Amino acid sequence: MSHLSDLEIAKQSTLRPINEIAEKVGIPHDSLEPYGHYKGKVDITKLKDIKEKGKVVLVTALSPTPAGEGKSTVTVGLADAFNQLNKNVMVALREPSLGPVFGMKGGATGGGYAQVLPMEEINLHFNGDLHAITTANNALSAFIDNHIYQGNELNIDSRRIEWKRVLDMNDRELRQVVVGLGGPTRGVPREDGFDITVASEIMAVFCLSNGIKDLKENLANITIGYTVDRKPVTVRDLKVEGALTLILKDAIKPNIIQTIEGTPAFVHGGPFANIAHGCNSIIATNTARKLADIVVTESGFGSDLGAEKFMDIKTRKAGFDPSAVVIVATIRALKMHGGVEKNELKSENVEAVKKGIINLERHIQNIKQFGVEPVVAINAFIHDTKEEVQYVLDWCKEHEIKVALTEVWEKGGKGGIDLAKEVLRVLEKPQQFSPIYDLDMSIEDKLETIVQKVYGGRSVKFSDKAIKQLKTIKENGWDKYPVCMAKTQYSFTDDPKQIGAPSDFDITIRELSPRTGAGFIVALTGDIMTMPGLPKKPAALNMDVNEDGSAVGLF
Ligand code: ADP
Repeated sequence: MSHLSDLEIAKQSTLRPINEIAEKVGIPHDSLEPYGHYKGKVDITKLKDIKEKGKVVLVTALSPTPAGEGKSTVTVGLADAFNQLNKNVMVALREPSLGPVFGMKGGATGGGYAQVLPMEEINLHFNGDLHAITTANNALSAFIDNHIYQGNELNIDSRRIEWKRVLDMNDRELRQVVVGLGGPTRGVPREDGFDITVASEIMAVFCLSNGIKDLKENLANITIGYTVDRKPVTVRDLKVEGALTLILKDAIKPNIIQTIEGTPAFVHGGPFANIAHGCNSIIATNTARKLADIVVTESGFGSDLGAEKFMDIKTRKAGFDPSAVVIVATIRALKMHGGVEKNELKSENVEAVKKGIINLERHIQNIKQFGVEPVVAINAFIHDTKEEVQYVLDWCKEHEIKVALTEVWEKGGKGGIDLAKEVLRVLEKPQQFSPIYDLDMSIEDKLETIVQKVYGGRSVKFSDKAIKQLKTIKENGWDKYPVCMAKTQYSFTDDPKQIGAPSDFDITIRELSPRTGAGFIVALTGDIMTMPGLPKKPAALNMDVNEDGSAVGLF
């Protein structure tokens, strides 16, 4: 039984040179750009004649505890299991953001014996992508402020600039700032603010573009704010889409790395699922579909967040249907939804599991509503008891839901064979996938559909600000975009304390923010923040580096 930390397991693993990993899925030599021995980027222009054929398996979860329920772990372990079954498989994951790494999570590369490597480097500055996105975002801020300073030919209203600066860190101090102080030669003072990089529209555009040309077009479409007479101002008006695309020209190439068991994986792009659309880049998923028969990918948090956006936003732009969906469930999260306090989740409590299963049930219904058959993966923890696990297995059987106990954290791919076999059964059958709403519906109807069908709520309420923004959205013809909900991951409602499967609740839309580059309207609910803060005891307190340069305290 494994008691080593994720970092210790990662350090003990033997990595294979990245060219061997790339060869495994037929990446031509001249399209692999090695970054050191074990990481690389892939020049996708050299793969343009290969047809996309791979089936996509999406991994989602029930509403999680703050520790995460092991989606990345199961995604990696499931791909390793397919690899053991001699399937041609790739993983596609998001890149970690430094904010949560130093805050709560300590790392986001899977866990136990189901990890992608080299975990230290993926968790820190991985091939520079997040820095490039931060730079592109802040270059745009600089171009906007310079335009105003140099005479403001476009007549931009500095009080109506929606574009914020970003930083890849949880830094609550910067949520609202004033810039341009210090007199006439130091800029034009205005209110500004910082978001975390993963909430930047550049991150969303990056993940939803199909190549350099599309990236440039989407960047050009970004609305940065409004003129004094309330007309939208775009990146195209500022004529900087070329410069921004140039900053991203290497970042946009998908990063290839390996799992502990040598399965090839793309880790590329990383918007959060509670404040952004929550899945890795389309370029990574579609390139993996050219190279492999099965692509296992993940979307953030539960089916109400990442999976809903995967289905309603990503698939429409990427041009594929998900062929199977895995819902990761843990006994500890089920107990939490059954009302157990966080510090008691390790003690046996079958009654709480029984009570909490309503949360899983709603996530199962959600996936079925999208027309895809779900498979439940019980991510086994050492504290789970036989009775608790048996209850969930029996419940799934009784409800004719495919289920597998999954022990990939402890055993690697071997622990995911049962799950892989269940997923293969789904892959053999045609699915009836369709998004939950039509793009032709009004923004209000799209929001209501999500709230009623996916969250299980009653209706949508709008703040005065959101009502005004709805008017602007309609006036500018932006109401045919999909919506990207920003909502707590802990509850189907907008209140993180409402666990289980609540009903008869309303969702209040605080703000609606048009993202005309990414091509969606962000709907902010509850207290959700686009710049998180650090917790009282951040994971950073346990971090260090040894004299040989190796990391301590990533987990
Ligand atoms: P998610 O992707 O759902 O946020 P992760 O896969 O990142 O979750 O896992 C979160 C943390 O939980 C990681 O530190 C991982 O090592 C740990 N973890 C995941 N599965 C297990 C398990 N079965 N037993 C013990 N720890 C686990």
